[in-house]
Amino acid sequence: MYKLLNEHNMLGRKEDFKTVLGLIKTAKNIVITSHKSPDGDSLGSSLALLKFIQKFNANVLVCHPDQASVSFHWLKDINSIHLFKDNREEVIKFVQESDLLFCLDYNSFDRLGEEFGGFVQNSGSKKILIDHHQNPTISAEVSISETAIASTSELIFELIEQSGQLDLLDQEIARYIYLGIMTDTGSFRFPSVSSRTHEIAAKLLETGLPHAVIHESIFDTNTLDRIKLKSYAIVEKLEILQDLPIGLIYLEVKELNQFNYQKGDTEGLVNTILSIENIMVAALFIETDEGVKISFRSKGSYFVNELASVNFNGGGHKHAAGGFSAESIFLTKERFKAIILSGFYNSL
Ligand code: 5GP
Ligand code: MN
Repeated sequence: MYKLLNEHNMLGRKEDFKTVLGLIKTAKNIVITSHKSPDGDSLGSSLALLKFIQKFNANVLVCHPDQASVSFHWLKDINSIHLFKDNREEVIKFVQESDLLFCLDYNSFDRLGEEFGGFVQNSGSKKILIDHHQNPTISAEVSISETAIASTSELIFELIEQSGQLDLLDQEIARYIYLGIMTDTGSFRFPSVSSRTHEIAAKLLETGLPHAVIHESIFDTNTLDRIKLKSYAIVEKLEILQDLPIGLIYLEVKELNQFNYQKGDTEGLVNTILSIENIMVAALFIETDEGVKISFRSKGSYFVNELASVNFNGGGHKHAAGGFSAESIFLTKERFKAIILSGFYNSL
């Protein structure tokens, strides 16, 4: 039991977190960035850090590549996030004027998109990496890359506690950290959850945050169109590869349009495929105007991070990865099948 606690505690990082606090206090202009198509963890960690930094330094902005899905539009501070996609010049100026820049919840600059990623990478600001993805390629002044930790938001909590500022944890900050931990752990159920995760959750709840409301807003709130789209996908489009523990769904723009698709509407669909008995690998292909967005999920000894990085310009975690293809959706899913049939998993 103690071993588990020690494995996950961040005491060895205390000096790093104190250094980060010192840099926050003395910086002139701070920018917080996170990855494209922000999820609960990137939004939660960005906004929690924003609110924490504001207690020391007023010159701090969150700049993200693009908008979050509608499921997150209820977040109080969502409109304070500056979007590169909508306000390119303004965001470039903020990045160029910054002397301290946080890279949250991503391990390489291409996760920001090619253009925004280039500006961030080449800016002269000091970088601080706080992330939990494998194989980070970002060189930073302080690099807090912790792949055993379930979410970046958990690391924001560690920053607050380990730098000696726990008395500044208010309900607003706690809500954002809770959001990030809750979404990246699938409501505290993934193997990455540790006793420390629950210990942190307990400290967050002590601020009186409305955890049931946060959960309901994310996981139990749907539009009728979203439910119908997911049902259609499963009834009409689910394909199980013959004699293989592999299932896939692909959805074209014209199908998405039938259900007034909004970003985020297919969230969770790939996990539904994975939940089918005997399925060990699930793939979801979503056609967009720019290309095909791919999500992979897997179980047990089947890993998908390499499948995504080697073949689909992506990456991620062992059991949850994603990628992108500029080919047509048909070619993309056929290429996926060919990779599988060529024996990708035979070595297991
Ligand atoms: P999702 O399927 O939810 O979009 O992504 C699952 C995980 O895969 C994310 O947490 C992220 O780590 C990774 N991921 C998704 N898309 C990409 C991508 O385009 N590039 C990389 N490197 N990782 C991705
Ligand atoms: Mn994350």
